Amino acid sequence: MKYQAVIGLEVHAQLLTFSKIFCGCSTRFGAEPNSQTCPVCLGLPGALPVLNKKVVEYAIKAGLATNCDIAQRSIFARKNYFYPDLPKGYQISQFELPICSNGHLDIEAEGKVKRIGITRIHMEEDAGKLVHADVPGLGTGSGVDLNRACTPLLEVVSEPDIRTADEAVAYLKKLHQIVVYLGISDGNMEEGSFRCDANVSVMPVGSGKFGTRTETKNVNSFRFVKQAIEYEIERQIEVIEDGGTIVQETRLFDPNTGMTRSMRGKEEAHDYRYFPDPDLVPLVISDDWVEDVRLDLPELPDAKRKRYMAELGLTGYDVEVLTASRELAEYFESCSSLYGQPKTIANWVMGEVTRALNEDGNRSIVDCPVTPGLLASLLKLIDKGTISNKIAKTVFDEMYRTGKEPQAVVKEQGLIQVSDTGEIERIIDEIMSANAGQVEEYRGGKEKVFGFFVGQVMRASKGKANPVLVNEILLHKLKG
Ligand SMILES: [Zn+2]
Repeated sequence: MKYQAVIGLEVHAQLLTFSKIFCGCSTRFGAEPNSQTCPVCLGLPGALPVLNKKVVEYAIKAGLATNCDIAQRSIFARKNYFYPDLPKGYQISQFELPICSNGHLDIEAEGKVKRIGITRIHMEEDAGKLVHADVPGLGTGSGVDLNRACTPLLEVVSEPDIRTADEAVAYLKKLHQIVVYLGISDGNMEEGSFRCDANVSVMPVGSGKFGTRTETKNVNSFRFVKQAIEYEIERQIEVIEDGGTIVQETRLFDPNTGMTRSMRGKEEAHDYRYFPDPDLVPLVISDDWVEDVRLDLPELPDAKRKRYMAELGLTGYDVEVLTASRELAEYFESCSSLYGQPKTIANWVMGEVTRALNEDGNRSIVDCPVTPGLLASLLKLIDKGTISNKIAKTVFDEMYRTGKEPQAVVKEQGLIQVSDTGEIERIIDEIMSANAGQVEEYRGGKEKVFGFFVGQVMRASKGKANPVLVNEILLHKLKG
């Protein structure tokens, strides 16, 4: 029998606000344990939550960017469960009336565009963190750090429209790119700021009736998501083929083995006894606010790609690379505004600039010592004939190393292109008399030797001779 997988993803993105979702404590990562806490996030009796307006604004942004409806009225609910990192005994989340619903993202997988539905996006608070074994100041045992308790999260729930691990990764990458472009999350997967739960089931091809699903929790890299889903599909098919049944459960992915293992029976919604949080009034969002946020949205990756292709005449590959991050696209655009040849800039950004950053320990484009302005000045020097394209690469490396202006580097190192025809003729004459044999060969019809002469002249001029003039004069003299 042939099987078809059915996959839905739940993504948690931590929001980049300065303070927590229901109190004024800082959200800064890496502080001393429990130093960023107050009665609200410690869950002390009588403390009352106050909603952070920025969190709502970020949720609206995410909703608009993923084609969702923004609810005029949404409700916070208590999700009850008991775990030592959750001091109140419940998590404040949204259940029946989330802030965003009915959205979608179009992904590209196996050469085709496919629409993946987004059921809902809701706001919620994160739990604290348990620290096991060696707890600073406590010796061995377990401690709880509540700095993370109450930090704001968005949970983005997809429809079960995904059918393969590759589609899942394409969807996840697109969502990741959007939240980072929007500036609402840093998307740091290693620190857990962007993590994914994968709901996977299998059914016989053509059946239309979904099988029992398992949920693999907190997978925090694109590669692991692919591995976890592929493993889970295979495992479930094997269980069914052996006559077993799939148990609805929560599973954990182990990056070391590439396998998932059972963690606990999966709760149903009723296990959490959701009810509206009586400490928080319903959230009412005006149309004006939604429109203000919409006007403030940055140009999103899809729109950017379309514009680069239509207006700047760049290829699909170029735009894919240039829009990979918002910072890279901004670098490219500010250079374009200073120097009008987008294709030339694209080549430099994807070539020399990216190479230098990679060799420099994968440095971010934001920290590139050659600013868009400096790169534009360099390209203008090539156009003016001051330096050749080849020398420009040497100048670029020196600019990267020192942060100097291209004119200064060219001057200091004496790299100005030789366009003095007398000087070029002198070099060519010398080379020709030192290589009389090759001159004869060329004149005898062996035109390939021409390249040899160009190489010799460029070497003798230390790469500074204007290549256009070299070709012209050499051709003239060799023809005799
Ligand atoms: Zn607090």
